[in-house]
Amino acid sequence: MSGIDQLPPLREVIDTHGIAAKKSLGQNFLLDLNLTAKIARLAGDLSGSDVLEVGPGPGGLTRGLLAEGARRVLAVEMDPRCLPALADIGAAYPDRLQVIQGDALEVDALAHLTPPIKIAANLPYNVGTELLVRWLTPPDWPPFWDTLTLMFQREVAQRIVAQPGSKAYGRLALLAQWRADARIVMDLPPEAFSPPPKVSSAVVHLTALPAPRFPANAATLNKVVAAGFNQRRKMLRSALKSLGPDIEDHLIAAGIKPTERAEQVSLEQFCALARSLDGI
Ligand code: SAM
Repeated sequence: MSGIDQLPPLREVIDTHGIAAKKSLGQNFLLDLNLTAKIARLAGDLSGSDVLEVGPGPGGLTRGLLAEGARRVLAVEMDPRCLPALADIGAAYPDRLQVIQGDALEVDALAHLTPPIKIAANLPYNVGTELLVRWLTPPDWPPFWDTLTLMFQREVAQRIVAQPGSKAYGRLALLAQWRADARIVMDLPPEAFSPPPKVSSAVVHLTALPAPRFPANAATLNKVVAAGFNQRRKMLRSALKSLGPDIEDHLIAAGIKPTERAEQVSLEQFCALARSLDGI
């Protein structure tokens, strides 16, 4: 029996169900249930919300989310070896856990969720970044989720919260900060995981804003930011040349020096540039 519920400790669960970590699935498990309960608390008040958890593995964070009072958890896990362990959790929390086996990049989770919805996950790096970009770029805003509480490599977490003038500042920071508040809320050393990864990790908490911070057309903003940071060493007047012959005029109209580089330009200025290009 563990501290937060009546279920066995995670090491025992992993042994019982033969869930030796697989590198190919990016499996670095959190085994300390006090830590997973703490991460669940960082997701906010869960009592009235459905929680989408991606990549539950043996269920450490799942148990944290349920113990912290999530109304329902929908867990999407690729590895079939984890299903019996997750079924045991479902039995301990009747009618509150639904598990879908599959690739989170393919599964239509929304069909199984009722608002308000929070998302929490400790995912492999590549899948996590791709899902984050998808969750931040729906055609309409606000999105289907209220908050995201996600574990990333620390270096990726820093890219999400980065400010202009820093090396980490780029497309991810602008995407995240345009339509959400983003904060690093916890740092974790490699030893917090089994097996320990090579790098440190951090939990990022994002809260969806009711409307984007500054007006802009999403597609235009995306195009401008992608072009600016694809050639981040270049001055913007040449990095953005492909956007039109009068790009210097648009830069000046947006209050940006044409000789500046993308990493010096604020979110507000990028939005002004997108509006100028759209003639609004
Ligand atoms: N959440 C658990 C924890 O904190 O201990 C497991 C974390 S482990 C870093 C990532 C989990 O995501 C693994 O269980 C892995 O099988 C699962 N996974 C990897 N790729 C996935 C995908 N595309 N869709 C769903 N789950 C995936």
